[in-house]
Amino acid sequence: MSLPRTSRTGNDLDDKTGNGENSSRNATENAAENISEDAAKHTKGKDLTSRVLLSGGAGFIGSHLARALIELGSEVHVVDNFDPFYPRKLKERNIEGILGRSKVALERSAEVHESALKVYEIDICNYEALISAFGNMKFDVFVHLAAKAGVRPSIMDPIGYCRTNVLGTQNMLELAAKTGTKQFVFASSSSVYGVNPNVPWKEDEPLKPISPYAGTKIAGELMGHVYSHLYGIRFIALRYFTVYGPGQRPDLAICKFSHLMTQGKPIPFYGDGSTKRDYTYIADIVKGTISAMEYRDSMYEVINLGNHHTVSLKEMVEVLARGLGVRPILDVKPLPPGDVPQTYADIGKARRLLGYEPTTTFEEGIAKFVEWFKMTFIKSARSDR
Ligand code: NAD
Repeated sequence: MSLPRTSRTGNDLDDKTGNGENSSRNATENAAENISEDAAKHTKGKDLTSRVLLSGGAGFIGSHLARALIELGSEVHVVDNFDPFYPRKLKERNIEGILGRSKVALERSAEVHESALKVYEIDICNYEALISAFGNMKFDVFVHLAAKAGVRPSIMDPIGYCRTNVLGTQNMLELAAKTGTKQFVFASSSSVYGVNPNVPWKEDEPLKPISPYAGTKIAGELMGHVYSHLYGIRFIALRYFTVYGPGQRPDLAICKFSHLMTQGKPIPFYGDGSTKRDYTYIADIVKGTISAMEYRDSMYEVINLGNHHTVSLKEMVEVLARGLGVRPILDVKPLPPGDVPQTYADIGKARRLLGYEPTTTFEEGIAKFVEWFKMTFIKSARSDR
């Protein structure tokens, strides 16, 4: 399949807002470009000219993945409802970063009709809307990333999380069956292991979830098994371990702390700083996800995508503060309910099945994040003055 590529010049829309959004768009674009180049190197020689239905493609991970897939020649259909969990503007900016120019400008041009990226603003809980948009289309693969993400907010809104993450996943699986799609990649989470102390976690470790969010991800993994069995859909659940990098979700610690620290405000510092996370850089996650889209050797797999390296909260704050050039002020609090003391991935299975090999160290990844953060938020704030 040969696809028309979307132009990435971005020259036809001047920044008239005066708030530096063009520079942030360029920063996101540059970062995404490096990531898709990385992915392209990794998948060299592979046939990636596929038609992909990507749910959650306006979000953090989804927009990086969409960009990489388009670079590799795929046609990407994004379904996303621009959920208000965090500002819509950030998601629109993600989409603009993929297109390389304003969505508004694109919609005005005829090019949008033959673009390698199409965006559908649809709630995955609305099955009729999904069928009406995609029921008559054929896809090589679904990548289902749309979800209400985040552990702590799921304790406040368990029913909303269940609706989107369980009913929404059921709808996406049903749509896959109806459209005859034979490959389905699902974003699961390290949180499913919960308080299991046997780190590094292998995929067959007992699951001991402690948040509604984690419970919904386990449900998604199991529903995938049902559809794989009934309809011969190859289902790959990827258990992502704390993903970070340019464009990171604003509720996640690295991004949230960066905002607070650069404003001279205290950061919530949970426990004694010894909790550990296996932080995984976005480019490594994108590469692993693309490999899962290409995986053909069995019909159902659950695979960890982590960095196989833990960083304590104390270390994370130190590295981040150094990168940002600030002195952190700590507001020490007890560990909140739902938060697990540690995450640590065994990535042997991902290596064996997907050829996955994360290559970005935490220090390198933070340097890239900080470059993006400064370009996006510090420069634009200065130009506002
Ligand atoms: P994100 O919130 O940036 O992206 C999720 C996207 O899904 C958003 O654009 C949102 O608008 C969309 N969405 C939410 N509800 C929807 C609905 N009802 N219909 C259609 N679209 C909807 O989050 P992310 O960090 O990019 O995470 C992507 C996926 O990876 C999620 O499934 C998340 O649970 C999973 N995950 C992420 C991490 C991480 O560290 N970022 C770790 C483990 C798992």
